[in-house]
Amino acid sequence: MAKINSHFSKLCSNYLFPEIQKRVASFKEAADPSLSFLNLGIGDVSKPIAPPIAEAIAVAAEKMSQKESIRGYGPENGYAFLRQAIFEDTYSNLDLSADEIFISDGSKCDTANILDIFSQDNVVAIADPSYPVYVDSTVMSGRSGHANQQGQYEGIVYLPCTKESNFLALPPSRHCDLIYLCSPNNPTGTAFSRKQLESWVSYAHEHQAIIFFDTAYRSFITDQTLPKSIFEIPGAHEVAIEFHSFSKSAGFTGLRCAYTVISKRLMALDSQKKQSIWKLWKRRQSSKFGGLSYITQCAAKASLSKKARQYIKEDIQNYMQGCQRLKKALEDLNYTCYGGINAPYLWCETPQDMSSWDFFDLLLQRVQLITVPGRGFGPAGEGYVRLSAFATEKTIDEAISRLMQLHVVSPSICC
Ligand code: PLP
Repeated sequence: MAKINSHFSKLCSNYLFPEIQKRVASFKEAADPSLSFLNLGIGDVSKPIAPPIAEAIAVAAEKMSQKESIRGYGPENGYAFLRQAIFEDTYSNLDLSADEIFISDGSKCDTANILDIFSQDNVVAIADPSYPVYVDSTVMSGRSGHANQQGQYEGIVYLPCTKESNFLALPPSRHCDLIYLCSPNNPTGTAFSRKQLESWVSYAHEHQAIIFFDTAYRSFITDQTLPKSIFEIPGAHEVAIEFHSFSKSAGFTGLRCAYTVISKRLMALDSQKKQSIWKLWKRRQSSKFGGLSYITQCAAKASLSKKARQYIKEDIQNYMQGCQRLKKALEDLNYTCYGGINAPYLWCETPQDMSSWDFFDLLLQRVQLITVPGRGFGPAGEGYVRLSAFATEKTIDEAISRLMQLHVVSPSICC
């Protein structure tokens, strides 16, 4: 009989978001059908794509319907027009070139697939808590042992993000080879300062390590002193790979477009010889990725236009204003909340003596508010829930009013 990849059986439980859906569905089944649910859980956008993006999609579709301008398979690494537009928009002052940008259909797959080109012996370090894809794909790829009782996989180096470190990972005292970092961080909503990122770049040089730097939320940074790209830090080109997605920055969660930036100066060892990571990723993508549709790449290019940017800026401001209103309401109810300034996520302490899944259940069952238990993002997420402000104003207002109501009815919930 055929055998499975045995590393899959090490995975602790379901992926976090299906587990939440399961709990919500089972509560709904037994609950009063008139109850309405508010989703501040999954970080999915709630605003339509900007009209200039929709127009670009229509024009591209029309082109594909014409005999003289049909498009078949495109280049695996993306059309030059999109790579050039991204380069001009973000990287032209950062000592990179357009062909160091690789277009894909998502940072979820890129941050997972990048492990393909690295040896199994590398020690992988991951911020804890973090976007669950980093841990799951490390486990699936066979770079970890089984999980211990705390839910930590043997072999993975967990980098605790605590109150003391502003919920960001700090360089460890031990050696690591591959390091997953995200800034602004999902789920804690906090972002690295220049100095903190410099300390990571110097750690990576000292240990000849490579940083996987996920910038999915960089468009939400409001503090202009914070770095938006790791390539703003001198020396990063030799030690970092950057991931960025159009999902949150331009509302592309349903369209799908992202990219990975690898400097040609980034090298890693193959026996005793140095190999170009840029070449290996190009090779990997050419074999395993069929490229992104022409239509979507036209849409992504349009999202970088001045006209589209105005709509996108307004949407981002709107999400962030909702985030501020929610944060203030929670603080007025004596909750302690972090994040929410440079990312639309609030990292909220659970009431005393309540685990993050218990608080998730309480909010679901008492006021039908869906959040994400911090524990689902890693062991250090215990004691927190994540609230996402990727919601409509109406949802945020209703969530605030239900939270206030909960505390009137149950003043004993002690924060
Ligand atoms: N990286 C982080 C940190 C995320 O939170 C998410 C989505 O929630 C992604 C990547 C996924 O990006 P994409 O939609 O491009 O796959």
